[in-house]
Amino acid sequence: MHVIEALAVQMRVAFMRAILRRPALGDLQRMVQLARADFAALGPPAGGAGVPVGYSFTPAEARAVQARLLRHTLRNAVQNVPYYRELLRPDAHRGVSLASFAGFPVTTKDDIRRHGDRFLNRRCTDVALYIETSGTTGSRLGMYLSTYELEAWAAGVALAGATAGNLTPADVQQVNLAAESRGDWYVAERAAGLAGTTAIMQGTVPPRDALVSLAAERSLPWRRSKVSTVTAETTYLVELVRVGREQGMTAADFALRRVTGGGDVAASHYVRAIEGFFGAPYADAYGASEIVPVMALRCRNGFYHFDETVGLIELIDAVTRKPLTMNGARGCLVVTPFFPWRHCFPLIRYWTGDMAERADCRCGATQNGGVFRILGRERYNIFQSGRLFTQWDCLETLGGVPGASLPLRYWVEPTDAAGATPLGDRPLKVHIQAVPSSDLVAVAAASRAALESAGLSVAEVVAHMHPHFHHFPLRWERRLPAHELGPADTVPAALTEGR
Ligand SMILES: [Zn+2]
Repeated sequence: MHVIEALAVQMRVAFMRAILRRPALGDLQRMVQLARADFAALGPPAGGAGVPVGYSFTPAEARAVQARLLRHTLRNAVQNVPYYRELLRPDAHRGVSLASFAGFPVTTKDDIRRHGDRFLNRRCTDVALYIETSGTTGSRLGMYLSTYELEAWAAGVALAGATAGNLTPADVQQVNLAAESRGDWYVAERAAGLAGTTAIMQGTVPPRDALVSLAAERSLPWRRSKVSTVTAETTYLVELVRVGREQGMTAADFALRRVTGGGDVAASHYVRAIEGFFGAPYADAYGASEIVPVMALRCRNGFYHFDETVGLIELIDAVTRKPLTMNGARGCLVVTPFFPWRHCFPLIRYWTGDMAERADCRCGATQNGGVFRILGRERYNIFQSGRLFTQWDCLETLGGVPGASLPLRYWVEPTDAAGATPLGDRPLKVHIQAVPSSDLVAVAAASRAALESAGLSVAEVVAHMHPHFHHFPLRWERRLPAHELGPADTVPAALTEGR
């Protein structure tokens, strides 16, 4: 009986998507309820790779769907969004193709800071949540999400988790995301509620407290006594590994089935450390409030698969600003979330500031479109002798250095007072934090050798026992009391980033 109803609800959702209308929230939430009913009747699903929600197009079909959604998105923007009405022609949507769209202006974080509410869709009547992130210059970036966007996002997370067996009534989910990440926080809590999962909304607490909670025996239904899934920023999870090892904890202290990270570069040694320590598979997604509902899931090969029928993903050269279409090309991700799934605060060609490499992955993930490796923040790029070294390159190179801290804290000496990352051919001065009681000279020498073998010209490497004031910031650090960060260190606000 449930199967028939599930099919009917799915068909209704698919039909609404096919005619470019928004599926009813009730239908999305009903799909989660049906998955829960299956759980109650049949027990936990087999789980594993995750069941894709949606359907697959051929590449040609996907492009046709995208072109149609793009015209829809542009028409809404020029008709209803003051910022784009002024910036673009009133008929900008007419005859636009994926190729001609590449000539449209990009929208930057500074544009949003300067024009704020002028990005609001004047016809959106269900504005629900205002989100602020602190920017790299300290000035705030604010945007809005509608009730529909938030609830559809939460229902999507709940449905994906429920059908894959990762978010079920038998699960206890501990969330150590920052409460300041309002969209993520709301969605994590709401998705757990929809899926019937017990949520422990702990936030960014000192790592010892998070570990105690993960290892605690609890009296809960379904006989699972400990937390079964934890969600946090990736480097916070790595910090849990470090502190947990220090305290002599092992995987046997936990009953985790899944560890979910995000918000940071998932360097390969981070993933190995997390999976090794917690004894559970690591999952990761790429996304941001600014590009909701566009997101990508990390596959077992470490690549991120996007569904390009909810938004257009472009890879743009950071210097020439030309589109990059070849596999292996590296540039900045530029995202246009499609109307009507995104309607409250539309952004056209949003410059994410995240670097990515176009990839070809045959893992079998059935997503429509772009596959990328995520390479970190654009502002951490290093150009030397015409070559580009990204945050990911540095993490991969320094991550294998014996005695380097975990999570990795490093800093590349700026070449000028403004603190710009080094450009041109100058050899670099690199700082790296070492683990306590390590041989600082040996760590510095090994770091230098690793950087040089990666092709960088290095003038000097200095190893520090404590985190350096200027190390590349780990976003959760500023939310902990100073004494949790070890001696001598607080992180200046100007050096912490927001998204
Ligand atoms: Zn893959």
